[in-house]
Amino acid sequence: MDFKLTDEQVKLRKQFFDVCEELGNQKPEGFIGLEGSYDTDEGWEYHLWCAKEFAKRNWLTLGWPKEYGGQGTIMDKVFLSEATGYYDIPGVDIFGVDMLAPTLHATASEEIKREFLPSIASGERMWCELWSEPNAGSDLAALSASAVRQGDEYVINGQKTWNTGAHRAHWAFALVRTDPHAERKQKGITFILFDMKTPGITVKPLKYMDGCHLYNEVFLDGVRVPAKNIVGQENEGWTVTQTLANFERSSLGAIMAMHRQLEELVSYCNETKVRGEPLAKNPLIRSRIAQVACDLWAAHALAYRIAGAQSKSEMAAFDASAVKVFSGELQARMAQLGCEILGPYGQVKHSRWASFEGFFEKWYQQSFILNVAMGTNEIQRNIIAWYGLGLPRMK
Ligand SMILES: Cc1cc2nc3c(=O)[nH]c(=O)nc-3n(C[C@H](O)[C@H](O)[C@H](O)COP(=O)(O)OP(=O)(O)OC[C@H]3O[C@@H](n4cnc5c(N)ncnc54)[C@H](O)[C@@H]3O)c2cc1C
Repeated sequence: MDFKLTDEQVKLRKQFFDVCEELGNQKPEGFIGLEGSYDTDEGWEYHLWCAKEFAKRNWLTLGWPKEYGGQGTIMDKVFLSEATGYYDIPGVDIFGVDMLAPTLHATASEEIKREFLPSIASGERMWCELWSEPNAGSDLAALSASAVRQGDEYVINGQKTWNTGAHRAHWAFALVRTDPHAERKQKGITFILFDMKTPGITVKPLKYMDGCHLYNEVFLDGVRVPAKNIVGQENEGWTVTQTLANFERSSLGAIMAMHRQLEELVSYCNETKVRGEPLAKNPLIRSRIAQVACDLWAAHALAYRIAGAQSKSEMAAFDASAVKVFSGELQARMAQLGCEILGPYGQVKHSRWASFEGFFEKWYQQSFILNVAMGTNEIQRNIIAWYGLGLPRMK
């Protein structure tokens, strides 16, 4: 892939960065990462406001086909992810814009596209993913939430778990079992869309270890959903799921957030003196920061390679797995390095002594999420082994 950007791309990328920097001026105090959008009412309002700001510039449809209001290319969308990641700006719904929209373009009927794409483009409808269950995570095809057809509706019963943002989202895309007798468990699954206000849905918080409310359990008790809301064919939802999972694992926003944090750590080390010498002169600290910088640029190059392949519809599943594992583990190493460099001050928050307003303490706790969410790293390594390296499957 040619990494050199055209003059036009450089200009557009700068425009994204300029707008995100400006939106950052309105950010609520203490807003950090994904939980910033979902934990508090103020953060959620900010997320919705940023979505409208992007929508009015037509930036939520970058890379979409023109007939659905799209403009620009997939690479343009990549540049926007870099800008939102760098300035930690919400507004691009990871479930609606990043995952569901490209999946609908690839797999849905015309009727579904016409009904559901416009509200994603306008930033009005936010989505959540209802896939995992207490007994179906890595082995997702073992899911048991059932949908039984009654006339022109499905009646859904079951429990979903670990659902990010389900307490705020307007709509959900879910996986349900429509044929309990299918000969292969992947065969009897259907991909369906529904309003989170439908009677019979109960959302309960699953508070993370740092106390934030981002994740949930969702109970579905006789939830009636129009049968026309399925994506793809009944019992063929597994194929749709595979398409979406690849979009779920692109990591450029997170990589740009790490660039920003690295810059801040470097400034801190230059400005902070210990026993009369700046930390930046400590050989151990220099070496560890330099190592993180090398890894970060490697992750960035990998993510660009994937984006380039994706823009030519060439991406393979193991590419997405590789960048998910590499960038997720890098974030954990970087968060730990930040906490070690800050020392005891790095463990303090809500205090005048807290360095970076407690950012690294929070980031460190959140870095564990990346090993599990979006498919655990063990599972990603299996995908890389099987599909990328041709190694045999273990029974
Ligand atoms: C913070 C967070 C957010 C999430 N958000 C969502 C969401 O929005 N929507 C949603 O539907 N789900 C979500 N999930 C669920 C997530 O996708 C699952 O937790 C994940 O797929 C792992 O499933 P599990 O928790 O059932 O663990 P298990 O599948 O029970 O795995 C337990 C351990 O066994 C290992 N393991 C399992 N099978 C294998 C194997 N074949 N080979 C090697 N090792 C294996 C796993 O790697 C893991 O270490 C989220 C999870 C977390 C933690």
